[in-house]
Amino acid sequence: MGSGAQARQPGAPVREPYRTLQGWAIGLLLEVHAIKECEEHGHMLDRTDPDAWKRAREIASKYPFRGATPAEAVRALDDVMQSVGDTCPECK
Ligand SMILES: [Zn+2]
Repeated sequence: MGSGAQARQPGAPVREPYRTLQGWAIGLLLEVHAIKECEEHGHMLDRTDPDAWKRAREIASKYPFRGATPAEAVRALDDVMQSVGDTCPECK
């Protein structure tokens, strides 16, 4: 779906806290505590909390990322969920 490279005018102020759909999805999942960040390595970890995931999906469908449809926003959450493990690969 190519959400990566967006042309931005040089010098234009960046007001939005999240510039990509994926960044927004991660921010939302952190906010509802569906994922957490490894304090030592910065990896995102699944907290395996079904209620938190449900809450994130509800928020995403009600308040999707700017320019995205609710379906796209929820799909972005799923993408993050699939890329995140429940243990940090560097914590042994
Ligand atoms: Zn770690």
